[in-house]
Amino acid sequence: MTMVWVCCISFLLQLQISLSMAVIQLPSHSWELQKDQNAKKDSHSIIEAALSSNSAYNRLAYMTDTFGPRLSGSIALEKALNWTKEEIFKDGLEVQEEPVKVPCWVRGHEYATLRSPRVKDVRIAGLGGSIGTPNGKPLIARVLVVSSFDELETRKNEVKGRIVVYNEIFEGYSTTIKYRLTGAQRAEKYGAVAALVRSVSPFGLQTVHTGYTNAASIPSAAITKEDALMFSRMQERGQEMEIELYMEAHTLPDQMSRNLIIEIKGSEKPEEVVVFGGHMDSWDIADGAMDDGGGAYVSWEAIRLIHSLGLVPKRTVRAVLFVNEENGAMGGQQYYTDHVHELNLTSIAIETDEGNFSPYGISFSGSHKARNLLTDLGQELLGQLGAGNVSGEDYGTDISYVCEKGVPCGSFKTLDPRVGNYANNPCLEFSNPPYPEPDMEMSAYFWYHHTEADTIDKLSPEQLQRCAAALAVWAFSIANLRCLLPR
Ligand SMILES: [Zn+2]
Repeated sequence: MTMVWVCCISFLLQLQISLSMAVIQLPSHSWELQKDQNAKKDSHSIIEAALSSNSAYNRLAYMTDTFGPRLSGSIALEKALNWTKEEIFKDGLEVQEEPVKVPCWVRGHEYATLRSPRVKDVRIAGLGGSIGTPNGKPLIARVLVVSSFDELETRKNEVKGRIVVYNEIFEGYSTTIKYRLTGAQRAEKYGAVAALVRSVSPFGLQTVHTGYTNAASIPSAAITKEDALMFSRMQERGQEMEIELYMEAHTLPDQMSRNLIIEIKGSEKPEEVVVFGGHMDSWDIADGAMDDGGGAYVSWEAIRLIHSLGLVPKRTVRAVLFVNEENGAMGGQQYYTDHVHELNLTSIAIETDEGNFSPYGISFSGSHKARNLLTDLGQELLGQLGAGNVSGEDYGTDISYVCEKGVPCGSFKTLDPRVGNYANNPCLEFSNPPYPEPDMEMSAYFWYHHTEADTIDKLSPEQLQRCAAALAVWAFSIANLRCLLPR
């Protein structure tokens, strides 16, 4: 904080002289006064270099195809980290490994079968953190379908000994996720033997979406939207349903993993940093190309682009490839612990963990002064790419620990052309600004999120490079401001 103040005071004294004759009065934190004189030229170079490469896609495709799902504690994650590290060296960049202790949840074999009124395989994906079925054996029980927690309360006397199926309506990820997080806990209170939760997604093609669930003493798994709807119809008709459920899910002792840190040291203020990143771990059924190999590799690519052009920022730019975002966020927590002394020296922390489609801009959590400055910066340097918007206030899980301590934070935003909301929108091709605000909650990102369908084909080389360009320009230009972003 002290350093920000000193920087701005000396800067303002200089300005006082140059502006004393001027009629116009600019706010002290405006982009015009803060920007580096080469900002436009450098941004142009970064964008041009990004668009002439396929590096992020090719590397992400290799990594996801070769190592596959990368849940924390798995050998696949460690192999993917090793390979990533070697490739970073090939770019002539340094990479630091910061050890992180991560939880280790193992799915094991699992199945569910509807036994009546007909026999049918029920696709399931045990929820991360769930226990297995008791005594290593299948459990067989009748089913009670509820559409909400309110209905569970109303029918609590019918729950004992049953498998509770939640057939909740998807109202946006952050709203509907509560059924996945606490569905089992609430059902066990009334004597349920297991909980099956309709996949938290706006769309399904018999797709099961796993994800973290809060600890409960009964097993819980996701089922497809189609099966949840069918169970609901059966119950309405008065048809009794019986399901056989088997899950081997269990938790092993914590394992050691690591965050990877790639940075370019600042030329004038190396101790001051701009941080951004994504996470390397994924759920164990997903290749994790979208969530969040893309975010991690786009962050790395942003550093590679800056480095390859020989650009050196005034402040340090740092990409963090976090681990364990999905089931514990220990990577983010460890980063906070290891870098707590840098909080006052961190200009901004940006996370990219919402897909890497057409770049749109960033959300921002921080002061109005900083937001105004970023809005102007974005429009001037990234307006042409459609990636200079500042909207919303949210930030990602991995950086939440530093954000909660008052560091200005952002979340990288992209638009998915497959988003239903934009189906009839002439802006679908995103050829001309202004661009529609992304509705992340209903985005096609959640068609694939935490499923077997989260594979590299959902991303495009061009979109990944545009994301890397946008992230690089945001980071580089913020690192080159005269002062740290105002708190
Ligand atoms: Zn993620």
